[in-house]
Amino acid sequence: AAKAAGRNGIRVFTPDLRQAVQRKVRVAAELREALGTDQFVLHYQPIVHLPTGEVEGVEALIRWQHPDGGMVPPGDFIPVAEQYDLIDPLTRWVLGAATRQAAEWNRAGVPLVVGVNVSATTLASGTLVDDVAEALASSGLPPERLIVELTETSVAEDPERAAAQFAALRISGVEVSIDDFGTGFSSLGQLVNIPAGVLKIDRSLVAGALGRRSQSAAAIAAVVGLGQACGMRSLVEGVETAEQLALATELGCTFAQGYHIARPMPADELMGWLSARPVTRARNRLGRSAGR
Ligand code: C2E
Ligand code: MG
Ligand code: MG
Ligand code: MG
Repeated sequence: AAKAAGRNGIRVFTPDLRQAVQRKVRVAAELREALGTDQFVLHYQPIVHLPTGEVEGVEALIRWQHPDGGMVPPGDFIPVAEQYDLIDPLTRWVLGAATRQAAEWNRAGVPLVVGVNVSATTLASGTLVDDVAEALASSGLPPERLIVELTETSVAEDPERAAAQFAALRISGVEVSIDDFGTGFSSLGQLVNIPAGVLKIDRSLVAGALGRRSQSAAAIAAVVGLGQACGMRSLVEGVETAEQLALATELGCTFAQGYHIARPMPADELMGWLSARPVTRARNRLGRSAGR
């Protein structure tokens, strides 16, 4: 039962709140256990170069294979990991697994770029640049085959710190992208000063893009133009229909990702999916490259 806490009679602990806290504490304990026992897996979602239709890369998305049998999506445990100091070891695991996998594909003649999501919490802890260097060194993946994704909201939390770490990553040859752009309300001034190479347009902008003359289409076109003005290439996320894909192409987006192209899938399935698809061979338009 909930306790009415404090002499002033204010209830600080409702039954719902207590349950939520208990759940988080339990998930945190299970996550700690999971980190030591190989319960995570990465799924990979293809990224396509729109002008050519070639597959240029993949985004690595974590899933938790819970011992109870369920596959837990990141939205259900990443916030807990962030809150209970588990996100840095988790990010190191993701960086390690994603770079090893991409290095293997590259050695097998499939030159994909891999994107890894990083939390604001990891940006704040200051270990990101070292963790990325360590993952590249131990996997042997060339830095231009890795992209670090940070959400617009994370960047806006501390733009100066983000800018400093982005610059360091890019000097090391790794590309940086701003994820979920269009949801974080960062100022134009902030965006101009952030050294990132790719702007990922949030799927909420795309979901409403019904026609060429819709307001969403105007917003997407504006973001693409903004990116170009800041030297960034744009990637549209959450493309679910052929119409959205055509519109994104027409509006000048460079890359696309979404269920219409492919859902995130395990590494072995990806190789099967790729066998029926043109994969870029010579160039690397998505990752970092000299002179860009
Ligand atoms: P995100 O980085 O923006 O990743 C895209 C999310 O949209 C993924 O959800 C993906 O499955 C989903 N998605 C892709 N195409 C479509 C589409 O056409 N329609 C719809 N409705 N959804 C689509 P997922 O895998 O559940 O990941 C959710 C979020 O969790 C990610 O958003 C990212 O912020 C976070 N996340 C995932 N993996 C990691 C990780 O390894 N580390 C950290 N820190 N965060 C991660
Ligand atoms: Mg992402
Ligand atoms: Mg996103
Ligand atoms: Mg997201």
